[in-house]
Amino acid sequence: MTATVIDGKAFAATVRHKVAEHVARLKADHGLHPGLAVVLVGEDPASEVYVRNKGKQTVEVGMNSIEHKLPADVSKEDLYALIAKLNADPAVNGILVQFPVPAHLSETDIVAQIDPAKDVDGLHVVNAGLLASGQRAMVSCTPLGCLMLLRDALGALSGKNAVVVGRSNLVGKPMAQLLLNDSCTVTIAHSRTQDLPGVLRDADIVVAAVGRPKMVIGDWIKPGATIIDVGINRVEKPEGGTRLVGDVDYESCAAVAGAITPVPGGVGPMTIACLLANTVTACCRANGLPEPEGLTA
Ligand code: NDP
Repeated sequence: MTATVIDGKAFAATVRHKVAEHVARLKADHGLHPGLAVVLVGEDPASEVYVRNKGKQTVEVGMNSIEHKLPADVSKEDLYALIAKLNADPAVNGILVQFPVPAHLSETDIVAQIDPAKDVDGLHVVNAGLLASGQRAMVSCTPLGCLMLLRDALGALSGKNAVVVGRSNLVGKPMAQLLLNDSCTVTIAHSRTQDLPGVLRDADIVVAAVGRPKMVIGDWIKPGATIIDVGINRVEKPEGGTRLVGDVDYESCAAVAGAITPVPGGVGPMTIACLLANTVTACCRANGLPEPEGLTA
């Protein structure tokens, strides 16, 4: 079998298109202009690229992009005061603090300052709790993107055996909750899992979020399974230079699976698209309006 390639780049474009349509309706019918505030602390070059990209895509879908750049030595008090100001500003529907932050600041404590209704990264413990109890939450962007790709590829997920490899708060745990909420039978594997190949053998759905290049190999995969590769790993090329690979060994897995996401061009583009989706959702919720269809969990 040769797997169907799940084109995350194309799907992300359709998500952005839906967001743009919804934003246009919010403006025309309700005079609302959704806004996303991104806070960058310090001058990490990779973070600056991410923030620039997010700002560009935010504007492209018709939303307001509000950027705050703070010096690397900003005090916790000054950062929290800015977050409090953004929490109180009705023109700001989503708040994102770009991580990593300098060592004198705590990511967990920063997230705790953000109003859960504006926590478009879905990292606040209130949102984790709402998701875990099957209630309406802000859902972390990467797992939300994976869920959209899975629903698009498979239709209803009910009854499928799903294995999530990785248990981070950012990806693995919310992914498992989303699959459970869609009535999958869910197993979470991690670094202490014994016999990972055995755990994966019966998986109809595999989501790999580990951070280990090409760890999951085709021999472990059930024929016809759907594989979502979240991993982004930069590796050296034999001829010099570097390239990106996932946590899944694409060649051997694509020979066995029914469908698979590539790296790059799979989950990656979905993450920013879902950030925009979450911001428009937050705007609708804040104003008591119906949620945009197809953009939430
Ligand atoms: P973390 O490092 O926070 O978590 C990795 C998880 O993998 C941990 O739960 C760890 O287990 C588990 N793990 C490590 N080694 C093994 C192993 N040998 N077998 C099974 N499980 C193992 O990473 P993230 O969840 O933040 O990210 C995972 C990957 O996804 C990274 O490559 C990251 O770059 C990528 N990523 C991609 C995004 C995108 O937009 N596409 C967004 C976010 C992340 P334990 O808990 O026991 O240590």
